[in-house]
Amino acid sequence: MNGKEPGTSGGITSAWNERMRLIRLRRKKERSRFRDELKVIPRWLVITLAAKFVIVQIVAMAINLSGVANNGVVWPVSNNAWLSSLALAGIVTLFALFIFPWILLLGYVNRDAKRRGMNSALWTLVCIILMPAYVALGFIIYFLVREPLPYACPKCGATVGPRFNFCPTCRCDLHPSCPNCRREIVENDKFCPFCGQDLAATVNTGAFTT
Ligand SMILES: [Zn+2]
Ligand SMILES: [Zn+2]
Repeated sequence: MNGKEPGTSGGITSAWNERMRLIRLRRKKERSRFRDELKVIPRWLVITLAAKFVIVQIVAMAINLSGVANNGVVWPVSNNAWLSSLALAGIVTLFALFIFPWILLLGYVNRDAKRRGMNSALWTLVCIILMPAYVALGFIIYFLVREPLPYACPKCGATVGPRFNFCPTCRCDLHPSCPNCRREIVENDKFCPFCGQDLAATVNTGAFTT
């Protein structure tokens, strides 16, 4: 018994402690680079947005040059079609720059939640619902509370879930604690960083070798 079991010290407190432990785990195990995170965004979404951008540009330009929308006058420079087209293209691009990052971010949240074993439909919906009133609040909440990614067992390399206490393949203790002060330590610590206990004999041997 080392206090890892949820529900030992009152519902809310233990749920909070478990949450904080998962956030610490995420910081410790995930050194994600921005470039790798971009790959999470679904490819079809990027292609669709790019296609829409091109289509909107062409349609806007065609309507403007034909003069249908404006009584035969091109907009905004009435007697210069080239300058008008350039200005219109600039305006459309500006709109795209404002809107596209949010759509891509939604695509990221949807995929990222799925690979973390979270309810991706619910989180995408939360981000969409909060967007009109609170802009990025949904995304901020998501990035604060998201689960850690599954990671490789330090002993056998099998993929283990962030909530696992022991590896289901090799029984390795995934959250070893100091046998003296019971605080959580890292697998390859030689001495406990809190009380100085010599860990060489106790940690990484499976903790179940009786
Ligand atoms: Zn293992
Ligand atoms: Zn200790």
